Amino acid sequence: MFCHYMHCYQIILPEECILSFHQENQPGSRAARNLLKFARKGLIFPAVKIINFLVPPRCVNCNQLSTMQSGICADCWKLVRFIERPYCEIMGTPFSIDLGAGAISTEAMAHPPPFARLRSAVLYDDVARHLVSRFKFSDRNDLAPFIANTMIRAGRELIDDADMIIPLPLHRRRLFSRRFNQSAELARIISARCETDKAGIPCNPMALSRIRNTRQQIGLTLDGRSRNVSGAFMVPPKLRPEISGKRILLVDDVYTSGASVKSATKALLRAGAQIVDVLTFARVHTDII
Ligand SMILES: [Zn+2]
Repeated sequence: MFCHYMHCYQIILPEECILSFHQENQPGSRAARNLLKFARKGLIFPAVKIINFLVPPRCVNCNQLSTMQSGICADCWKLVRFIERPYCEIMGTPFSIDLGAGAISTEAMAHPPPFARLRSAVLYDDVARHLVSRFKFSDRNDLAPFIANTMIRAGRELIDDADMIIPLPLHRRRLFSRRFNQSAELARIISARCETDKAGIPCNPMALSRIRNTRQQIGLTLDGRSRNVSGAFMVPPKLRPEISGKRILLVDDVYTSGASVKSATKALLRAGAQIVDVLTFARVHTDII
């Protein structure tokens, strides 16, 4: 079953997803009615609690028993390297010394990115890598709220300035094989938890499409990565009026070379976006400047 709200393939859906599926996409369908009834009778979440009791959750990093909601134990929590100021105002790259307000890195000066600002919650070390890997490839959707919360903390100013949140899309073939888009799930939670007014900040996972099924970026050079994703994204023509003049917050899980988010940013700017900011959970770091 494809859920347009979470932009995912799910068999057992969280209640929010079921409600949305029922209310927005297939109102009145038998499948939606049955799923909604199942959720409202509370048959999904007590079952999860029983399973947690019988099979206690383990830390995704060290595999020790853990009661932490984050998915990692207290010891591994201490290993997470959160990114704090001072950092480059454009790239969000941590500085080892405070260079003053508005300081930007040599990377931002030498190679200005198409996006306005990049913020990430943590450095992509072993703990972050395990968290992302379990979230993406092991059906650990329960990790999404913790990951999204750290992103909200790191990207508060970007979120406050945004008119719309858009996740980095997967190509439909990869979406089908992976069953859900992890970036769309993070964007959905950030949107739901960051209401600046009654309407909140809309999340539109359909506003950007990945029109080419690019090969994996792993093993490619920086130039190769850029070429690989060049022209891979587009805003569907009928959705361009929704993007035009808007301040967009592009959400992804990890910033590595930045090739994908830069290509996606260019597509959004071509569609008339006023500015594009980027928020990711983790970022690969070379050296702290
Ligand atoms: Zn641990």
